[in-house]
Amino acid sequence: MIKVRHVLGISGGKDSAALAIYLKNLYPLMDIEYYSSDTGKELDETYQLITNLEVYLGKSINILKAAENSHEDPFDHFLKMYGGYLPSSNARWCTKKLKLEPFEKYVGNDLVISYVGIRGDEDREGYISRKPNIQSIFPFRKNIWSEDVVEKFLANHQIEFNLDNLNKLSLGVKRQKIESILIKSLDLNYNMHNKLNQLMDLGVKETNFLIYDFLKSTGYPLAQDDAYFPLLENEDNLIRDDIFRILEESGVGVPAYYKKIDFQINGKSSSYARSRSGCFFCFYQQKIEWVWLYEQHKELFEKAMVYEKDGYTWMQNESLEQLIAPDRIKQIKADYAKKQDRAASKKSNFLVDILNEEEGIGCASCFI
Ligand code: SF4
Repeated sequence: MIKVRHVLGISGGKDSAALAIYLKNLYPLMDIEYYSSDTGKELDETYQLITNLEVYLGKSINILKAAENSHEDPFDHFLKMYGGYLPSSNARWCTKKLKLEPFEKYVGNDLVISYVGIRGDEDREGYISRKPNIQSIFPFRKNIWSEDVVEKFLANHQIEFNLDNLNKLSLGVKRQKIESILIKSLDLNYNMHNKLNQLMDLGVKETNFLIYDFLKSTGYPLAQDDAYFPLLENEDNLIRDDIFRILEESGVGVPAYYKKIDFQINGKSSSYARSRSGCFFCFYQQKIEWVWLYEQHKELFEKAMVYEKDGYTWMQNESLEQLIAPDRIKQIKADYAKKQDRAASKKSNFLVDILNEEEGIGCASCFI
């Protein structure tokens, strides 16, 4: 019998932690391996979250380290290899070397289902391995399948095959309606998202069983797994509020850096926090998060400053030394407070909503 591994990457962020808790609570019999890729530059809160999760899950989280034989932290090891060239959104060697490559080495050639914590209120795909032995599943979304699976399932040449499979399912009154959608061809005015949404609106479970039957005719890892796949019957769609609730209710807790801290600017109160996990110097963080780092973890900010040399800076248009000039800090805080006011008028509950306006951009391997 072929063994299919089920793995879940813990980034140190809220969503992957909540996913681990959610799957354990709902499907305690699923044998999931947990892993976390350590860059050596995470915040202490991330390591604390991993410890709390291990207690809750009753299992160890495998820590993957790139360049494991190096005497330096993985990040420093590769920075040297790249000649001091700091990573950026256009040259993200850090994700490749510190996250993706250790993960692909960990998995090897085994067949793997990888669970990814992208939420139902996000419009992004996240990391999809191009390796055929790794299949991503998104349990928080109504549509748990990756784009490539949906694309293949809904290809026009699959229509006959899917209609045949439809006959094998007992769908009762829904059958005719599902058939009327399945039979429609995709064209310029009717894309796969339209068709998938129509099918899911008629029945999430029914659509999942059809996709599963289709998968059984392919080489995808799930097709090789003989065990029953319980997520086929899952109709949940979890959003940000659910994630915070899961973390709080489990006792694992929300990482401390998400908790807002008040400050005063121009006679008004405002508050800031950090919005993401990942390296403390991550170039994806917003200016206000750099100010947060400077004021709340000065020693880490100073370490981040040390990396800025030979003309390399973490941000394109400003060095960390420039950012901490008192007038510049005031300006960043004032700009941010205005943003916060605008978000408050939209009745946003979480500070992280404001900080994460650009959540879709960035490193899915580091921040989910
Ligand atoms: S957190 Fe940021 S700096 Fe660290 S590996 Fe991810 S993208 Fe790179």
